[in-house]
Amino acid sequence: MTCTGCALLCEDIDVHDGEVRHACRIGAAHILNRQQIDPMVNHEVVSIDDAIRRAAALLADAERPMFLGFGNSVTETQAAGVRLAEKIGAGIDTCSTHTGLIDDIVHSWVRTCTLPEVRDYADVILFWGADPMNTHPRLLSGYAYYPRGKNRQHGWEEDRTAIAIDVRRSHTASICKGVYEIVPGRNIEFMDALMLALRNKVPKTVYDSKQILKLASTLKKAEFGVIFAGPGLVESVPRGAIIRLMDKLNEFSDFRILPLYSPYNLRSIAAVKPAATVTTTTTDTATDTTAAREHQGDCTPTSKPTLASLREADCLLCVGFDLVSSLPQAHDIDASIIVIDPNKTLTAVCADVVIPCAAGGVDLAGTAVRMDGVEIDLPCIMETGQAGAGIWAGTPARMSDASIMKRLLEAV
Ligand code: SF4
Repeated sequence: MTCTGCALLCEDIDVHDGEVRHACRIGAAHILNRQQIDPMVNHEVVSIDDAIRRAAALLADAERPMFLGFGNSVTETQAAGVRLAEKIGAGIDTCSTHTGLIDDIVHSWVRTCTLPEVRDYADVILFWGADPMNTHPRLLSGYAYYPRGKNRQHGWEEDRTAIAIDVRRSHTASICKGVYEIVPGRNIEFMDALMLALRNKVPKTVYDSKQILKLASTLKKAEFGVIFAGPGLVESVPRGAIIRLMDKLNEFSDFRILPLYSPYNLRSIAAVKPAATVTTTTTDTATDTTAAREHQGDCTPTSKPTLASLREADCLLCVGFDLVSSLPQAHDIDASIIVIDPNKTLTAVCADVVIPCAAGGVDLAGTAVRMDGVEIDLPCIMETGQAGAGIWAGTPARMSDASIMKRLLEAV
């Protein structure tokens, strides 16, 4: 069975008599989560048919509908959601700052690799703005650091160098040989200094020049380097700067990048809906402009939804995305809010319509795309309401979000 607790999509999960085996604490909590919601319209419990009918009416009447999320939905639901969006002229925002980097990877503007390739070949691993020990707990043991691989037979003590670059000393930094603390808001200066050091120039910077030169030297010597790009990197550095850094690193060694985000199927929807709100700006940095490719431009990262952007919509459909948790001020927004989610969320509490659905990989089978682009089957761990199912006994069966989308599609 496959865990959909994060984008690592671990496939060795067992569930017996209510006990989840092999999953990390995040995965076990995700699989066992029973905070289900009831179908609701205007904060009153209704039948699921009434909730779907009301949602369809709101969407049909909307002049500027906007869909948010879909990163926590199976691919089949995403496809139905895109069809619905096209039919009613809605925009889709994945609400993830990783969308831009995924777009660059899908278009081969930066080099990437698969997780098994990281395990087999990676000797230098950078965790930049990422703390996988707390967000993807099995990444280090499964692929990125501890396991022996085809060309990495001597284990992490000899074969791998892990480096953490972050604004704070994360838990992941505790296993890293190199730790670089970023001054908050000055990620781009660190990247500029690193680019200069890679060109054998001594950077004049707020950071320790010697340390930056040492880092550049380590990166240049890498046989197969991998950057795990967390939110701390993609939220604070323009896309163009990441592309230029990757270009420069690949002049000396073989360097790949993998985005590290949590929504388990973000890669699939991001490939369908590439960065929708990318604005073109000119970043005047000291990075290697000669290596910049024209068609990539210098783009600001796709931002999380802002109140201003949300206020332009008159109907928001949140699919597996907790808007109010990301942006608390959104709770009193004028737009109607429809929530489709397996579990109770802050957004569900203040939504106009709530439609509960089955959770992908838990009580709903489907497919998803892992963070490295590999398509993974998601068998159903257990049917809801299954007699004698232990943790699920007595729980009413839930409708799949793909079925809900299709019914909305027919109704609008
Ligand atoms: S690392 Fe992610 S996919 Fe693997 S068990 Fe933990 S939460 Fe689930």
